[in-house]
Amino acid sequence: MSPPSNSLLLGPVLPTYARQDVTFVSGEGAWLVADSGERYLDLVAGIAVVGLGHCHPAPLAAAHAQLDRLWHTSNLYWTEPMAELAARLSTRFGGAQAFFCNSGAEAIESALKYARKATGRPGLVALEGSFHGRTLGALSVTGQPAKRAAFGPLVPGVTFATLNDVESLVGAARPDTGAILIEPVQGEGGVHPATAEFLDAARTLADELGALLVLDEVQTGVGRTGTFFCFEQYGIRPDAVTLAKGLANGLPIGALLVSDGAAGAFVPGDHASTFGGNPVTCAAACAVVDTLTDELLAGVREKEAVVREWFPDARGRGLLLALDVDRPASEVVQAAFERGVLVCTAGERTVRLTPPLTITTGELDHGLAALREAIDE
Ligand SMILES: *Cc1c(COP(=O)(O)O)cnc(C)c1O
Repeated sequence: MSPPSNSLLLGPVLPTYARQDVTFVSGEGAWLVADSGERYLDLVAGIAVVGLGHCHPAPLAAAHAQLDRLWHTSNLYWTEPMAELAARLSTRFGGAQAFFCNSGAEAIESALKYARKATGRPGLVALEGSFHGRTLGALSVTGQPAKRAAFGPLVPGVTFATLNDVESLVGAARPDTGAILIEPVQGEGGVHPATAEFLDAARTLADELGALLVLDEVQTGVGRTGTFFCFEQYGIRPDAVTLAKGLANGLPIGALLVSDGAAGAFVPGDHASTFGGNPVTCAAACAVVDTLTDELLAGVREKEAVVREWFPDARGRGLLLALDVDRPASEVVQAAFERGVLVCTAGERTVRLTPPLTITTGELDHGLAALREAIDE
């Protein structure tokens, strides 16, 4: 089991995570190597971060080349990788402007500030069970009371609606609502996809209110669900999208994309990030975006089908999938670990699978066989 939460197992680190008792020293593709020399098949991928697998040659070469040229200039100047990444993301979105930061929570903070500035309204509609990050603003729109309880008072003006309940969404709207914030598939909250009807209704409601529809694609974006953005699988276009986790395959990055139609609210001085748009990170991210071809994305959907053959009840989209189990999910995580396979949880009794998008079907079969045993143990 996990070490006690105050364990100084390896270093004096504040115990914000219940870490497993293992130390990883290297990785390649879908495999991680521990300091013991033991190899583990990684169906977590840094929680939907290392989408191309560990040490993928494309972002590795791009980051190496950029490390040799230039690490940092500040946003007082232009750098090529940042501009190139913005252009690539704009193309994928179909016309957007980017703000770069270093994490998902920061991308959410950027979106909250953007919506206030763009609409002049402080109200926010978010969803119960959602997860948007741990900073005070992002926590304020995270619909999980246990994560919020010890940290109030939070940002005021947030109302919560029930996922896939249109009536509750409409009921949560206020005249001062500036943004409706939704994860197309709730990730940390248990892997619950939004229905097309619900996202349609959110789009219509945002238009009626004059509010921004902001999709948090920090976990669902960058190919994770089988399309570059998850929203492509729904018939709607958001006004803004947040990205982070998979964007630079493990280097820290976050992004807010604002559609061309909703752009124009931020002016110099409104928002900033010292490290945002870092050349090394952005060079790696450009390589990630270029590597996510139609063929690779089609492969994600094929591998989703492999998981569904093993586990017909799996919930989610693409390679963001979850299984409900009838004992504490942490026990299943541990039993899989003992079989050399890493999975993680998304709630008390939910096991989450977010393997590298590049995992082979052979590796996936191997991992899922071990997971089957771990569940049945
Ligand atoms: C992980 C996550 C975040 C927070 O990202 P951090 O990089 O941990 O700050 C925000 N939104 C969603 C949907 C996430 O999955």
